Order: sequence, then structure tokens, then C-alpha cells
Amino acid sequence: MVDLKGQYEHIKDRVNASVIDVIESTAFINGPEVHQFQEELETYLGVKHVIPCANGTDALQIAMMGLGLQPGDEVITADFTFAATVEVIALLGLTPVLVDVDPVNFNIDVEAIKKAITPRTKAIVPIHLFGLVADMDAIMEIANAHNLYVIEDNAQGIGATYTSKDGSKKKAGTIGHVASTSFFPSKNLGCYGDGGAIFTNDDDLAHTIRGIVNHGMYVRYHHDVVGVNSRLDSLQATILRAKLPHLDAYNEARRKAAEKYTQAFSGIKNIITPTNFCNAGGDSACDSCDCHVFHQYTLRVIDTDRDALVKHLNENGIPCGVYYPIPLHLQKAYLDERYNEADFVVTNQLVNEVISLPMHTELDDEQIEFITKTVIKFVTR
Ligand SMILES: *Cc1c(COP(=O)(O)O)cnc(C)c1O
Repeated sequence: MVDLKGQYEHIKDRVNASVIDVIESTAFINGPEVHQFQEELETYLGVKHVIPCANGTDALQIAMMGLGLQPGDEVITADFTFAATVEVIALLGLTPVLVDVDPVNFNIDVEAIKKAITPRTKAIVPIHLFGLVADMDAIMEIANAHNLYVIEDNAQGIGATYTSKDGSKKKAGTIGHVASTSFFPSKNLGCYGDGGAIFTNDDDLAHTIRGIVNHGMYVRYHHDVVGVNSRLDSLQATILRAKLPHLDAYNEARRKAAEKYTQAFSGIKNIITPTNFCNAGGDSACDSCDCHVFHQYTLRVIDTDRDALVKHLNENGIPCGVYYPIPLHLQKAYLDERYNEADFVVTNQLVNEVISLPMHTELDDEQIEFITKTVIKFVTR
């Protein structure tokens, strides 16, 4: 699915040298590399504050802690995403409210958000799923009208640019009140272990969060709030510093590969290729606005046995993934008698149709041709 080795070969000299430098310096925790990476990412994103932490799941949890969300508060998020999003909501004693997604862009359904709002709703967590920015204009509008926080789960969308209706451009993760990301190795900006970060333009929130990640300390050995221990270590930071200057080129390589896949699948009636547009309704300012960084390239296959296709690809040496095979509202840990199956029509359908093909920065034409030919041959049998 990914080719981390091939990508490493291109940056090996810089990575190896800087890793050795960190080891020689022995500044493993909170060393200068962490601070420099933080500043470089702030500049890249055009955001006032980046707070590095241990992983993307922590980042989400800490963002919610920083906002002061309290048990009983309802947090609306998508039914079709990785479990981390709903997990931290539940872990903090907040009430997850899962809603359906849009069948075209796979992102949280704006109308479903509106329907789910109650007097207890405190926040919305859109996920920029598979690297495509959610419909942020509409989401911010709802949030402002109802006085809700927006926490962007940007684990899959780092580097994507969102164009608002007014023409202004912002990086994914800098539009809501706060955002989280993950530097898990296979993410678009991945380190060589675990890592994550929180972004915000709010000075007070950034201050609060900097204490939370460090045991609730604002003055050494004075613990003002209940915190956690969540750090990005210097070795991961130095690897991320080596990769950040390449992020735009990495995302461009993903877009190019996606374009070739989509070209090859055009006219195949059993295959629905992923959209390039963040607003499926078509009333967005987005006109190929770089709002998709293709963390995954995900097809829907229609009138086809998706699981048999997975098996067939694997037998032909082609890795593929099903993200995600089970709606979150049907997961044992997140069952809730208030849910109604009629409200999850899209997710219930997508889990049977989606298949993600290999997507990374090192895909070449020969691989794409082999993959697309094998898929087409199977679905048109
Ligand atoms: C990867 C991912 C996370 C969690 O990141 P980790 O660093 O693995 O904790 C959260 N949300 C989404 C959507 C992800 O893809």
C-alpha cells in the first residue's frame, strides 16, 4: 500500500545525518529539533500554534481537553472514519453522536449534522477523510450559528488547501478552532515511529494545550489542570524536518498517481472513481483547488463482489485495503440505542463498496497500469 523504503532512499543522507546528530546531542526529549519542527510546520501551514505530541489519537483527545468539554457534552462526528475519532470522545466521557456521510466525497454530511444538533451539542469533528477536505464553509457556518467548536481531524489531510466561498485559501487543519494530525509512518507526512500535533490560531487555547501535554504544568511542578504525558521525541522531529520540505511534492505525486488511476478507470461502469472536489454539491469555490491530497485512493465498486476483488488483487500480488469495513455505529464499543439504521444509509452502503488501491509517492506508470488492468479485468468479467 505504501513504499516507505523507496521514499527513504531519496532523503537517506539527510535523515541519517540528522538522526546521528540527535543521538550525539543526547537531547532526546524536548530538544531543539522539536522546537524547530514546530516553527517550520507553523510557517508551512500558516497557523499561529503547532503543539507537537505523541500521536494523532492523543492530539484529538488533547484538543478536546483543551476546549474544556465536559462529560455529557455531545460531539458530532462521522460514522465512516477510523475509530480514533469516536474513541477519544467516549474516553473523555463525552457523548459521541455519529452521523452519516456524503456518498460522493465520503465526508461528514452537512445536513446530517444539522439534524443531530441538540441543546447539549458542543462540538463537531469533521475528518478530512482519505485526504479530501470536508465542506468547511458549511460546517463553520453551522458551528457559528449554534456556538459550537469545530475540531478538524486532519490525520489524513495534511498539506491540502481549502478554498472558501470568498476565495480565501487556507490549509486543512487551520480552518476550525483547533485541529489534530498524525505523523504515523504511512500518513502523508509520516515519521519513523509515532507522532502527532495539534494546531490552533487561538493563543489562550494553545497555552492551555501546552500545559495539558506536559502533565498539566504551566510552572514546573505546579499542576494546575489534569494533563497527560504526550511528546514528540527529537528523533521523530528531525525526520519530520527532513520530510516537510518535500510534503508538497509528495502530495503532488499522489495527485498525479490518482489522476492516472482515474483516467484508466474512466468509462468502466462498475467503478466510481473518487471526486477531486471538496463540495459534491457543486456550489463551492473549489475548482480543483488542491483540496485533495489522496491519503487514500478509494474506489466504489458497484454490482461487484468487493471482497472477491480484494482476494483477487491480493492473489495477484496487489495490496489493497478496505477503509472502513464496519460503520462505527455498529461497533460493539459504540452501540447506542438512540441510533436509527435509516440515518446511516450511505455508510451502510459504502462499507460494502469501497476499496483503496496502493497510494504513495513512489508509484510508477508500470505499477499503475498493472493494478488498473487487473481491477478492470475482474470487474468487467
Ligand atoms: C491515523 C488516524 C488517526 C490516529 O492517528 P495515530 O497517530 O495513529 O494515533 C486519527 N484519525 C484518523 C482519521 C486517522 O487516519
